[in-house]
Amino acid sequence: MNVLVVEDDATIAEPLASGLRRRGYDVVVVATGHAALAADGYDLVLLDLGLPDIDGYDVCRQLRERSEVPIIVVTARGDEADRVIGLELGADDYIVKPFGFRELVARIRAVTRRVQPRVENGQRRVGPLTLDPRTRRVHLDGREIELTPKEFDLLAALMEEPGVVVSRRRLAEQVWESTWYTHSRTVDVHVGALRRKLGDAAWVETVRGIGFRLGRSA
Ligand code: CA
Repeated sequence: MNVLVVEDDATIAEPLASGLRRRGYDVVVVATGHAALAADGYDLVLLDLGLPDIDGYDVCRQLRERSEVPIIVVTARGDEADRVIGLELGADDYIVKPFGFRELVARIRAVTRRVQPRVENGQRRVGPLTLDPRTRRVHLDGREIELTPKEFDLLAALMEEPGVVVSRRRLAEQVWESTWYTHSRTVDVHVGALRRKLGDAAWVETVRGIGFRLGRSA
């Protein structure tokens, strides 16, 4: 998932960007409202309201006029009127500086969940790929894909949060109910099999040293 961080204070923007990258997000940082409005190809905006060129509220309103992209307003202005105006202008949520990183990630997840419902009629859907936890069936472009039980569980874990990195450890715990020390190689083998069955390795991206995520082609 691509996050556009609009923040003119580098002492805030840089740790924010590197923290998000560690969590598996792709991050682009811009420092002005004009740059924010010129940016393209992102899935979520973290928008500081105090920008040097255009008022953050105007940026928010203009972004919302042109797309439904989730916007989280980041503000040092703590008073309630500012928050209300931000939400009225189309922001999906707001967070007040200083904020904890965990809180931010939780907000990002909540907002992306709200804006992009992943579950339709009980099925998880990512682009042409659907997974039904009740029948344990997977379809790609309408064609059923035969998966082993572990491959199914692996795909289900990756489809919980498309685009977000799932660590090897979490996959091992969730799918094999074991620790990754024993089963690291097992995870790789199953990821390989899953890629072959989905017909495109890009469906499951390797994030070096961390784990895997459902690919952007998703
Ligand atoms: Ca600022």
